[in-house]
This record gives sequence, structure tokens and C-alpha cells, in this order.
Amino acid sequence: MNDNIKKQTAGRDALGTFAPKFAELNDDVLFGEIWPREAELSARDRSVITVTALISGGNFEQLSFHLKKAKENGVTKSEIAEIITHLAFYVGWPKAWSAFNMAKEIYKEDKILIDNSIWDKGEKGSSDWFTGTVWVKGLLSPDEMENLYNIGCVTFEPCGRTLWHTHPVGQTLLVTEGRGWYQERGKPALLLTKGSVVAIPKEVEHWHGAAKDSKLVHIAISNMKDGSNVTWLKSVTEGEYNDIQN
Ligand code: MN
Repeated sequence: MNDNIKKQTAGRDALGTFAPKFAELNDDVLFGEIWPREAELSARDRSVITVTALISGGNFEQLSFHLKKAKENGVTKSEIAEIITHLAFYVGWPKAWSAFNMAKEIYKEDKILIDNSIWDKGEKGSSDWFTGTVWVKGLLSPDEMENLYNIGCVTFEPCGRTLWHTHPVGQTLLVTEGRGWYQERGKPALLLTKGSVVAIPKEVEHWHGAAKDSKLVHIAISNMKDGSNVTWLKSVTEGEYNDIQN
């Protein structure tokens, strides 16, 4: 069950008294039972086909909601542009224009989302640890006031990411702004959005970083063991990074 699937109430909110059966089917069956079947088809793929179906049918009243959902489900700005360009040839030029006008508005939010971080972004992170542009603001270290934790705020510019690495006592990430990815070696990448919390087990190889078209800001909390809180490994290659967003 994906955390992105929230309890849907749109049907009941809009039609609960006028068409209670339709509202129930919308909220409990379509969004309650069909959308969450992620083992059968990912939420991202469901978003792509839903957006395609709505544009094809000219159903723009429903499109805005589903473009936002597609964005939440990991469809990037460049991908939505490509999807609509592709559709233009099959469903008609005017439908593509209408869809683009809507998508442009929905996908421009990222910039607003991320410029109000609580702390300044700190110093530029070393390329020994990061790929692309990443800023690190140290907030607390274990020496201060007998604090046990190493706490920092990390700002990844679009495409910015850590190298593959491990933590001797694990790590907790709290996402405060933007969108990005967390991936453990050998597993599918998980989408990170504002409010995501990731508990990373000790000694598990992983990376975290921004999406292609959005910054990501997270607070990272880790513990020291034998004077270190991280072991850096190989970089996340372009191939590995592109794979997750295709
Ligand atoms: Mn980590």
C-alpha cells in the first residue's frame, strides 16, 4: 500500500447526497480498491494511462486533479511534456494545447515550494560525497551539549544526489521541501515528497537525492559509531539515476 493513496472523499463531498451510490463507487471502489493495486500496476503507470484517457476524451474538468496526482506519483515535468506531445498526434492538436496549458500551471509549483526553507542552505557539499549540486547545513553535531545525534539539512538541486553509502547506526530523513528519491541497492526507488519520513536501517547500501525537475530538501539525522556516521561508496551512475525515472 502506497502512502500516497489517501482516503478519497471527493465523490461524497461533491455528490454524497445527490448520488450516494456513485459517490461510494468513486471513493471506495475506484480510489479505495483499484488505484491501490500497486502490485498489479504502479500508481505512476495508472496516472499515465488515466491522464492519457482524459486528454483523449477531452475530459478537461477531471484532468487538473489527475495531472496533480501524476506529479505526486512521480511523472516528471519533462515526461508529462513528452506524453502530451506524443498524444497530440493521436488525439488531436487542440486537445494537446488545452492539456499543455493545464500541465504548465501544475508543474510550475516546484519553484515556489522550495525557496522558503527554514535554514540557509549552508556550504556546497564535496564531490567525494555528492553528484551534482548539493548544499549541506550542519545543525547539530554529537559533541554539542552531549547531543547523541548528527543533524543536518541537505538541499539537493535538481539531479543532485548522494553517492551510494551506508550508515553504521542507520539514518532518519525528514523531507521538508520539494521532490526526490530514496533507493536501497537492489530495490525500486521510493518517491520522496514534502512530509516523507524515511527510516534507513544500519549498514544498508542506499542513496537519496532530488528528482530531475525539482529540488529536494531533507533533514538527515544519524548516529556516530567509532567516530563516523557514514561510509561512502561508488557514485550513482547516470544510468542508475535515469532508470528510476523512465
Ligand atoms: Mn543516507
